[in-house]
Amino acid sequence: MMKSKCVFLDRDGVLNEDRPDYAYQLDHFKILKGVPEALQQLKDAGYLLIVVTNQSGIAQGIYTQQEMEKCHNYLQEQCGGVIDYFYFSPYHPKVSESLGRKPGTLLFEKGIAKFNIDPQLSWMVGDRGRDLIPAKQLGMKTILIGNTTCGEEDFIEADLTAATRRILT
Ligand SMILES: [Mg+2]
Repeated sequence: MMKSKCVFLDRDGVLNEDRPDYAYQLDHFKILKGVPEALQQLKDAGYLLIVVTNQSGIAQGIYTQQEMEKCHNYLQEQCGGVIDYFYFSPYHPKVSESLGRKPGTLLFEKGIAKFNIDPQLSWMVGDRGRDLIPAKQLGMKTILIGNTTCGEEDFIEADLTAATRRILT
């Protein structure tokens, strides 16, 4: 069976504004400029779109899984339903360790198995080193969103629009 190609995406700081106090209320959940259009372009080019996000605020009792899911539903709605799957790690090392938390590879491996993905054809877009480390370990190409190297990226781009241009060239 033909393997799929995928763009794995970090959430906070890539798809929506990152907030030091966590993005979990809908009225604080701001989708970044150009994100719906960029995701649609990647989808049109045949990429699966899978979000992999650490949501340690759940383990810390700051917000609930239901509140997070409301944000994910809203994101999906605003992006025309193009996101294929959300993997989230609700754990925090102070409360509960988990292999699923980035930089662990477990959630990526689940996605690779579930969707029959070829990591060599796939990318990870994140705004921290811990997003890119597991992707690199699994053989994907990596893009850091921002303007300062984290030492783990193959490319640095300003935002998802620029990252999409990079992936599609
Ligand atoms: Mg992030």
